Amino acid sequence: MSVDLKRPYDPENIFAKILRREVPVQIIYEDEYTLAFPDIAPQAPVHVLIIPKGPYVSSADFGAVAKDAEIAGLARAITKVAEQLKLSGSGYRLISNTGPDAGQEVPHYHVHLLAGEKLSSKLVKKTSN
Ligand code: AMP
Repeated sequence: MSVDLKRPYDPENIFAKILRREVPVQIIYEDEYTLAFPDIAPQAPVHVLIIPKGPYVSSADFGAVAKDAEIAGLARAITKVAEQLKLSGSGYRLISNTGPDAGQEVPHYHVHLLAGEKLSSKLVKKTSN
């Protein structure tokens, strides 16, 4: 089910549980502001989720409410993850689905990092519904 952007942050969402270590993941990167771990259903040879540790529902919420240090922290963490995974030369794609039209499913802001092959069209086709 898609995320309702009007709802408050749900502390029982799966990424909140991952942050509280209630659900185990392979940690790829962690710092004061950020956690990165593999997507459970990878859409590319490399598919990592990079999330802020703060309770933000979406990209919109994060951009409006997060402290500058958290925003900078996430941006720098993305670059560090890419460097750590040796993607700086070959490249990668960042996607952040926000709300129902984008098909956001987990109501905790996250950035998908996709890489490891020549990725298909940059635009995602409309679904029928
Ligand atoms: P989105 O559709 O942009 O909200 O993306 C949510 C992503 O979270 C999907 O790509 C899921 O495969 C991924 N996901 C859901 N549960 C887990 C989990 N326990 N560990 C890792 N990734 C997950």
